[in-house]
Amino acid sequence: MDLPSVGNPGAGGGIREGFSPRQVSSVSMVTIPRAPVLYNHPEEPSTMPRKPLIAANWKMYKTPAQAQEFFKSFLPLVANHERDEIVVCPSFTSISVVVAAATGSGVAVGAQNMHFADEGAYTGEISPLMLKAIGPTHVILGHSERRQYFAETDELINKKLKAALSHQLIPIVCVGEVLAEREAGKTNEVLVRQTRGVLAGITAAEAVPIIIAYEPVWAIGTGKTATSQIAAEAHAVIRGEVAKVLGQPTADAVRILYGGSVKPDNAASLMAEEEIDGALVGGASLDPQSFAKIVNY
Ligand code: PEP
Repeated sequence: MDLPSVGNPGAGGGIREGFSPRQVSSVSMVTIPRAPVLYNHPEEPSTMPRKPLIAANWKMYKTPAQAQEFFKSFLPLVANHERDEIVVCPSFTSISVVVAAATGSGVAVGAQNMHFADEGAYTGEISPLMLKAIGPTHVILGHSERRQYFAETDELINKKLKAALSHQLIPIVCVGEVLAEREAGKTNEVLVRQTRGVLAGITAAEAVPIIIAYEPVWAIGTGKTATSQIAAEAHAVIRGEVAKVLGQPTADAVRILYGGSVKPDNAASLMAEEEIDGALVGGASLDPQSFAKIVNY
């Protein structure tokens, strides 16, 4: 598959082979080596670690002028940042100005949603072709707000995921349980069902660029963050299911981000977990200083 170079997970800067990019143990704060994680194509396993990725989901905030203002303040704060990939996902109406503002900076741009069809009588929708024409490299799919307010199902998200892959858009596909499901002890069941549902019919080779975001719905925009341990356990369940569906090498390569009230003061402890490969940040990504602090955790 011919993927855009932005977001190429193999392009990690300065990471020593055989060591994690995040070597600080959350318990002892002692630097420890850990086993290499397979990264690249499943048929050509390599010892490249998964490069962390921090993504901003601006939801329905910011006009194009406000998006431009954000970039004026934000880019100097993350200049030459190589440890993590950075992706900013504005509203559709700001994608073009953000693509222009981010050009040459190493910050990638994503959309927050798209239709699965190339074109058609779908009033109000945006197609992958239309996105490709204006330059984003990533697309968030199946965000819980899409599931909750726009009735998106795993089946629909699966169609969008396939469309994104066939158009070389890097999907950030969201899964996560609601509070009632967690309280009923159904978290793992929900994560398994959603992971299987969104990946249905996708081959291991096709799945290589997929990024999964674990977003417990009870933690989104509520100020409640899953503890690092809760998040890491959920990530392990998701990765385990990816392994069952697509094989261990693919599961080892797929990056799983945590999302849900990530803030400057909790980013480091979340990112210290081996299972957490990055963050999808909503509210705290709207302010350039706050998002830069998260990126520089
Ligand atoms: C999100 O919108 O994906 C999100 C995680 O929001 P917040 O960080 O505000 O909880």
